[in-house]
Amino acid sequence: MSRIAYLECTKCGAHLSPDQPRTICPNDGGVLYVRYDLENLKPHFNRAALAARPATMWRYAEVLPDAPPVSLGEGFTPMLPSREFPHAFIKDEGLNPTGSFKARGMSVAVTMAKAYGLKKLAAPSAGNAASALVAYAAAAGLEAYIFMPKDVPLANRVECESYGAHVTLVDGLISDCARMVAERKEKEGWFDVSTLKEPFRVEGKKTMGYEVAEQFDWKLPQGIIYPTGGGVGLLGMWKAFDEMEALGWIGSVRPRMFSVQASGCAPIVRAFEAGETTAAEFPDAHTCASGLRVPKAVGDFLMLKILRESKGGAVTVDDEEMIRVTREVGSTEGLFIAPEGAACFAALRKLLAAGKIAPEERVVIFNTGSGIKYLDCYEQ
Ligand SMILES: [Zn+2]
Repeated sequence: MSRIAYLECTKCGAHLSPDQPRTICPNDGGVLYVRYDLENLKPHFNRAALAARPATMWRYAEVLPDAPPVSLGEGFTPMLPSREFPHAFIKDEGLNPTGSFKARGMSVAVTMAKAYGLKKLAAPSAGNAASALVAYAAAAGLEAYIFMPKDVPLANRVECESYGAHVTLVDGLISDCARMVAERKEKEGWFDVSTLKEPFRVEGKKTMGYEVAEQFDWKLPQGIIYPTGGGVGLLGMWKAFDEMEALGWIGSVRPRMFSVQASGCAPIVRAFEAGETTAAEFPDAHTCASGLRVPKAVGDFLMLKILRESKGGAVTVDDEEMIRVTREVGSTEGLFIAPEGAACFAALRKLLAAGKIAPEERVVIFNTGSGIKYLDCYEQ
């Protein structure tokens, strides 16, 4: 792991060695970010070197951990021009292995788990993260223990079982699943790969930021509309932008970042509007967009900081609208998208109508998964 300089706590700034498996900062529980020696890397790693590389996220190897990748071909997903909005593009993450953007984070997390010699991985998941973890664990020859709310999309449950994982259905929310993993992990010898409780899922997700830049010939868009549950992708892209600036690949201008959440679970939107720096747990969380059913996010303070620094915003969309928009996007764009992606299309309409995004601004909408994973939600 020579490529990683150190792990850095996002709260207290402590530097930790990457030579052993880490979860969160031992001093204050802060989220840990992986840091590379970008100054030394700069003369050896340039944009032109990428052209000849495979179309996966591992093309950015120099800014990813130096371990043999556990890869199923994730990343470098299409950037499609929208047929409805002349200046919008759709980053279609539904084409990743296991049908969602979660593949990126889990590819790196499982790569590192294997490199560290870990054998048993555990995670609470609202759906697609479980599918991804289990697939990559299977590819790496590791055991996976999944705790999912019993009302997760049918596809995710069946998929996890098909990959040979140990699946426990929980009568509760994702936060209840997380508690169960936390309570049992020590006794069972599980390594917890929960969102932002291990440092490498962010590294996988950040490759979306590199791809956005590369696919637009290193000119970042003016806005990014992103569905946020745990918010790892938002954090990861922001980290990627800073790394690319340090490498001399882009300038200091950043896209405005917009967080989209479901009306039934909108802790970040609520905190953003109230001017808070952290987000209180959202009571009675409910939405069919299982990836948005995260009532309390570990990285809330980081997300809120990015939304404000970028002069972006936060938007809610209700489930009825997500389902309606999914059908409209299907018939106009030819894409069968996840409700989380539909929420972003609906958010763009709202932001355009409110004058918060100008029609001529170039924006990227993230569709984080395939609609195939949500048949039980769409069939109602
Ligand atoms: Zn710390």
